[in-house]
Amino acid sequence: MAKLEIVEYPDPILRQRAKPVEDFNESTQVLVANLIETLYSTSGIGLCAPQVGQSTQILVMDLSDKQNDPEVFMNPVILAKAGFAIVEESCLSIPGVAAKVIRSGVISIRAQNQEGQLFEKEFDGMKAVCLQHEIDHLEGKLFIDRLSRLRRFRLRQKLHRLENNAASSILQPA
Ligand code: ZN
Repeated sequence: MAKLEIVEYPDPILRQRAKPVEDFNESTQVLVANLIETLYSTSGIGLCAPQVGQSTQILVMDLSDKQNDPEVFMNPVILAKAGFAIVEESCLSIPGVAAKVIRSGVISIRAQNQEGQLFEKEFDGMKAVCLQHEIDHLEGKLFIDRLSRLRRFRLRQKLHRLENNAASSILQPA
């Protein structure tokens, strides 16, 4: 297993719709294991393949205290949503930015597990919020897209800083 580098805003891969996983082969298993190891090296609760530069529909989540209960979702689809939840979200790909986002409170999901078997499951609380955040990633959406204009305006300096950092690292490769 290996810890992978996390891609940061405004990298264009974060804006792509990720491709479905079709082959549950060894390279897919290695990517899942690496995603979990990378997640555990951070303070995050969820991570998806586009965030490590692989545009495929895989996400991992672990909300346990001891980081010993990883859940893996391949090709996830939200089947139904109900209620709402407002949680302050942040993103490993948008460091230093946090904001409250309105999400559904309960969701039901259809996905495939690591072996490719389909399952359906209902989630609420932080798991529901985390899954909506990560499934957005797989569609090329970021949590900052879901903020009101005013909230985005308030974050503009932090976002510009990230955009400028990216631009200067392209000009001066280190
Ligand atoms: Zn994120």
